[in-house]
Amino acid sequence: MADLPRRKFDCLVIGSGGGGLRAALQLAQAEATVAVVSKVFPTRSHTVAAQGGINAALGNVSPDNWHWHMYDTIKGGDYLCDQDAVEYMCRAASKLVYELEHAGVPFSRLDNGMIYQRPFGGQSQNFGGAQAARTCAAADRTGHAILHTLYQQNIRARTHFFDEFMAIDLVQDDEGFVLGAVVLEIETGEVMIIEAKTTLLATGGAGRIFRNNTNARINTGDGLAMALRVGIPLQDMEFFQFHPTGIAGKGMLISEATRGEGGYLLNKNGERFMEKYAPRAKDLASRDVVSRSIATEVHEGRGCGPNGDYALLKLDHLGADVIMKRLPGIRDLCLNFLHIDPVKEAIPVSPTAHYTMGGIPTNRQGQVVAPLGNRSEEPVPGLYAVGEAACVSVHGANRLGGNSLLDIVVFGRAAGNHINEFLQQNRYHRPFNPASAGRAVARLARWERTGDGETVAALRAEMQTEMDAHCGVFRTAKVLRAGLEKIRAIKARLPNVRLRDHSRVFNTARIEALELENLVEVALATIHSALAREESRGAHMRMDFPKRDDDKWLKHSLYFMANERIEFKPVRLRPMTVETFPPKERTY
Ligand SMILES: Cc1cc2nc3c(=O)[nH]c(=O)nc-3n(C[C@H](O)[C@H](O)[C@H](O)COP(=O)(O)OP(=O)(O)OC[C@H]3O[C@@H](n4cnc5c(N)ncnc54)[C@H](O)[C@@H]3O)c2cc1C
Repeated sequence: MADLPRRKFDCLVIGSGGGGLRAALQLAQAEATVAVVSKVFPTRSHTVAAQGGINAALGNVSPDNWHWHMYDTIKGGDYLCDQDAVEYMCRAASKLVYELEHAGVPFSRLDNGMIYQRPFGGQSQNFGGAQAARTCAAADRTGHAILHTLYQQNIRARTHFFDEFMAIDLVQDDEGFVLGAVVLEIETGEVMIIEAKTTLLATGGAGRIFRNNTNARINTGDGLAMALRVGIPLQDMEFFQFHPTGIAGKGMLISEATRGEGGYLLNKNGERFMEKYAPRAKDLASRDVVSRSIATEVHEGRGCGPNGDYALLKLDHLGADVIMKRLPGIRDLCLNFLHIDPVKEAIPVSPTAHYTMGGIPTNRQGQVVAPLGNRSEEPVPGLYAVGEAACVSVHGANRLGGNSLLDIVVFGRAAGNHINEFLQQNRYHRPFNPASAGRAVARLARWERTGDGETVAALRAEMQTEMDAHCGVFRTAKVLRAGLEKIRAIKARLPNVRLRDHSRVFNTARIEALELENLVEVALATIHSALAREESRGAHMRMDFPKRDDDKWLKHSLYFMANERIEFKPVRLRPMTVETFPPKERTY
């Protein structure tokens, strides 16, 4: 253990999606030494797949104002958002989008040269009035444009990249300071310690706990599980967003931009059913509402196709010009995976697991804050988290489309600034005792031998199928409890998985086993939190408790891995400078 190679940096950033890269940029530009580790080449991070766009109240297409954006975000989150964080994000949005524009993001343009903005779900003018157009877009490849720009800027600022390295676990000293992480070079299997004065988790979401999902294969919740293993709880994990329009049976995302541009949903009778569920916003109601509506249509026998299990998304009336110019990537997806041209035919869609609203609890500066041991909630020294891995909480019980790309750049930058301040006052590394890397090294050592059980791939598929079946759009205590037992049984079988089979080399299977360990912990956190919350709010729909209950449940859940324990903490209802938006009934 003592002879593991060690590298030293001011800051270790784990994850090179938009969140990690925006933070790294802020640090590198201030001349801190920054290491970014990523399981994949940076521009392959899931941010690259974001299609629709990034929200900011620029007012280029409809009148707009950050205060309206703030209201929509809080209402969209079914009042579970921390309102100070939402105010911070919505106020910063325009500045951050212009900054991206100046850094080189090729946004689509209006005829007058301004940044193009499209309407997205849950957006309104004047606190719930007419539809707003707030989502700034680079055609339907906005995440691609942002991620590539941030990567180039980081190269210029001399950020140090460790591509295709997997972080295994955090390293912590006896006083609880986080001192970096143990990482594994995927190609060679070499292990190394990256020692840092500050460590930032930006590992993205955990959509891979479900079988039917829109996420990249790498989105296995590694950062969430790493936090759990050092005793940090995960917040609000019961809130998982199911996107209404995944390609039916396959899961890949058909962006909300399709409905923003004027597409709409139909059932088997050709009825535009969203008019019934959301008379004003119709197909642009928030995602939880639209997903439940599709599931209800299917459930009540009005689904399309031979099995009656999907809805149709109609775009052909938009015309070839709009589709080619504004939605070219969506058209490619449909041609490649469905052999359907949306210029002519409707797209079969059904809800698919999409976004992890919960995550590692942080404050506005990106510091991880948690009640640990018998202490009350306070920052975990040396540790930060941003992006989909974090829960700050701006998305509450349901995220609005276009708010996540915003979240990652706003809080990536804020965390970078806070880390810089910390570095000014803490010029030296803390003493490093190699023994503190023991947890991570032991975890790796467990996977030096192969078991004789099923393959990693088979066990993972089983876990994902159980999560789809037991923790989906509609939930009940009975089904959740059955799911919990299934996932616990899968966890018990995990140590015995077989790492050698004809389709995988040992090292690849070992990486997948490490990922599956993380997925199982995140799945357990999700089911436990879903069982604990006995109300329906945002994306969490309990058939046995169908109403929102603010008296009892206007609070965040915290799941601790030790003893699979749940605690709660209050929602911060007080914004920074404006008046609070008190909870009221949510209609679209
Ligand atoms: C298909 C799709 C479309 C979307 N469209 C939009 C949209 O239009 N607008 C919007 O606002 N949001 C959208 N979202 C959501 C948004 O894109 C994501 O929430 C956001 O990009 C996440 O960024 P991130 O930086 O937190 O993580 P990611 O971009 O997911 O990056 C995670 C990084 O962590 C690394 N990593 C993970 N584990 C480890 C480990 N153990 N060791 C080392 N590295 C690790 C990965 O290699 C990767 O670099 C979309 C999401 C999807 C899936």
